[in-house]
Amino acid sequence: MIEGLSVTSLTAHYGAMRALSGVSLTVHHGEVVSLIGANGAGKSTLLRSIAGYQRARGQDIRLNGEIVAGLAPHAIARKGVVLVPEGRRLFPDLTVTENLKIGAETRRAGDWTLDRVLQVFPALTERLSHRPGQLSGGQQQMVAIGRALMSNPQILMLDEVSLGLAPKVIEELYAALPAILSTGLGALIVEQDIGRALKASDRFVTLREGTVVLEGASATADRHAITTAYFGAA
Ligand code: ATP
Repeated sequence: MIEGLSVTSLTAHYGAMRALSGVSLTVHHGEVVSLIGANGAGKSTLLRSIAGYQRARGQDIRLNGEIVAGLAPHAIARKGVVLVPEGRRLFPDLTVTENLKIGAETRRAGDWTLDRVLQVFPALTERLSHRPGQLSGGQQQMVAIGRALMSNPQILMLDEVSLGLAPKVIEELYAALPAILSTGLGALIVEQDIGRALKASDRFVTLREGTVVLEGASATADRHAITTAYFGAA
C-alpha cells in the first residue's frame, strides 16, 4: 500500500476528446511532486479529476490505499485531498477570515488553525476583515492556500499559483512551502516555470497530450530532456 496519493491508469474525456490517457503517479506524504507540461497537456484535468470535480468513474485513485475515485469533491477533501484551483475561486462577498473558515468545513483532525495559517502568511493578519477584491493577487493566493490548509489536507494540490503574479510575490509564496510541508503533507503542484517547479519539488512528472512522457528526481533532472519531452520530438 502507498502512504499518500496514488493514481493508476487515469483516463479522462471531454465529450469524445480524450484529455488524459493512462496517467499513473504517486505523491507520498512529505514530498512535493511537480507536474510539468505545455498549455493543454492535461495538468488541470488531472488535478480536477483527483479532486473529484471531473468524472472519474471506475478509475483507480487512492489515498493511503483507500479508493477515493467517484466520491464527491467535498468527500474527497474531507478524506484529505484538497485542490487550490487555478484562479483561486475565493468568495468575493466574504471576508478573509470567512473565506479561510470555509476550508474548515471539510476539516479533518490536525494541526492547521487560523493562527497557524497566519504564521505562514503573516501578510494576511492585517487583512482579515477585508474582502478578496481589496487584496493583491498574491494575498488572494495566500487566502486560497490558507483555506485549503484549514481543512488539514494530507495531499495539497496547487494549480498554477504563480499565474499573473510578480516574481517577488511568487518567491514569497514558494518560500512558505517548507513551513506548509513541515506538517507532513504531500503536495502536487502545477507550475509553468520549469526551473521553479524543479527547485520546489522532490520529483517531477512531465505530461504531454494527456500522457506521462518523462518523470524522475527533480535534483538530477535533465532540463534539456524535459523540454524535449514537453514539446515532443522535433
Ligand atoms: P493549461 O496550462 O492551459 O491550464 P493544462 O495542461 O492544465 O493546460 P487542461 O486544462 O487539463 O490542460 O486541458 C487538457 C485538454 O482538455 C486541452 O486540450 C483542453 O483544450 C481540453 N479541455 C480542458 N477543459 C475542457 C472543457 N471544459 N471542455 C472541453 N475541453 C476541455
